[in-house]
Amino acid sequence: MPRLALKMMLMLMLMLAIAGLGGCSAEDPVDADLDEIDAEAAAEVAPAPEPVTPAPPPWTDTEVEVKRGSTIAEILQEQGLKYSEVLALVEASKDVHNLEKIRAGEVLTVRTDNATGSFSGLLYPLDRHGEERMLVLQGADGGFTAAKVARDVVRVPVPLAGSITTSLWDTAIGMGLGWDTVADLASIFEWEIDFNSQVREGDAFRLIVEEVRDASTGEVLRHDRVLAAEFKAASGGSFVGYRYEGSDGRVGYFNAEGMSSKKMFLKSPLKFSRISSGFGKRFHPVLKKWRSHNGVDYAAPSGTPIRAIGRGTVNFAGTKGGYGKHVRMRHNKTYQSSYSHLSRIAVRNGAVVEQGQVIGYVGSTGLATGPHLHFEFYVNGAYTNFLRQKFPRTEPINESERPAFEAMRDDLAPRLAAIPLPGRDTTVAAKGDDDASDGPSDADAGPWTEPREGR
Ligand SMILES: [Zn+2]
Repeated sequence: MPRLALKMMLMLMLMLAIAGLGGCSAEDPVDADLDEIDAEAAAEVAPAPEPVTPAPPPWTDTEVEVKRGSTIAEILQEQGLKYSEVLALVEASKDVHNLEKIRAGEVLTVRTDNATGSFSGLLYPLDRHGEERMLVLQGADGGFTAAKVARDVVRVPVPLAGSITTSLWDTAIGMGLGWDTVADLASIFEWEIDFNSQVREGDAFRLIVEEVRDASTGEVLRHDRVLAAEFKAASGGSFVGYRYEGSDGRVGYFNAEGMSSKKMFLKSPLKFSRISSGFGKRFHPVLKKWRSHNGVDYAAPSGTPIRAIGRGTVNFAGTKGGYGKHVRMRHNKTYQSSYSHLSRIAVRNGAVVEQGQVIGYVGSTGLATGPHLHFEFYVNGAYTNFLRQKFPRTEPINESERPAFEAMRDDLAPRLAAIPLPGRDTTVAAKGDDDASDGPSDADAGPWTEPREGR
């Protein structure tokens, strides 16, 4: 059970952190456990507020995991129900959920009456996190009633930190964060950091994330909103984002100065992938000759969605020679981008596309050795190395919202800064990319052209 393992790790680190607060403890909470818990460490530094604990109920809940091949009848008969009672229970609950279809791995909660010690009810999870459940109760007459019940939950902000070994994704999932939370975390920084090319071993991040807990038992059900997060590159850069929900309900992340994390262009057209070939002179894998590579190649499985890096108008959508299935966009007078070797195109010529909208899917059409995205970026019509471009942040927080934002920031900033970052000793990442700085100005030549100053 990964969640249990995470909880134990958090407890351990909490204990170490408290020991460390004494000042002279030999167990430094940051360094001492790094070797053991390593980069996937999730560090809890401050005791989270205690969940509300009402008076204990007059019953006891016991979790029962459904084993492969076992049936609801077996499970409930083991709890002391007669076969006829099982049938009545299943019948009574049918309108809410059909218990004949339970599956191995699901966890049922059996409720027993503390006074009599006998079965009094059953809880069955109706969603992935068990926030909504079916409660089947046995009445004094022996009959059953079923209803949907929403679990009473509390949201508790908790501090977490991790350092990257292979990818942000692997590290965050290893820390027990759910997919949604990791996607949130990535979206805060995707304007500043290309997770495909710029993340290096030793980069670290810390965050304050809401834990959704059962209000009565304190059981952690899932992580929810990321309230604040900071990414620290081993090479020195640091980026912070604070979540702010405007009075109009729009949610965004802003830096300490209240500038939106959003920029004119996404750092990468693919959410998660790796760069397999940079911009500049490369040995062409098919032609076996040196050529100028006029874009950036992102390796990703066929079918991976490709996002428009910015808002714009599609000015080509179709098949084009070595590019294969190809989409080109015009963002404004200065900037254009194009996406090649697609397996499928998802937009029409002339369409207005929003930033982040899926314009097609990775494939290997045209002159490609395998599935990848060939991405080109043009400034005033000339091929340009997109990885070297810097774009300003776009919008500041609404002035009327600024006081509320600053109050929230002033609350979160010291709490974020107090979270120890694991693994802060690493070497500076090497610059990866050699670069033919000014490519040919004919931006329609194809993915590869003769290098300008031969080789
Ligand atoms: Zn390419």
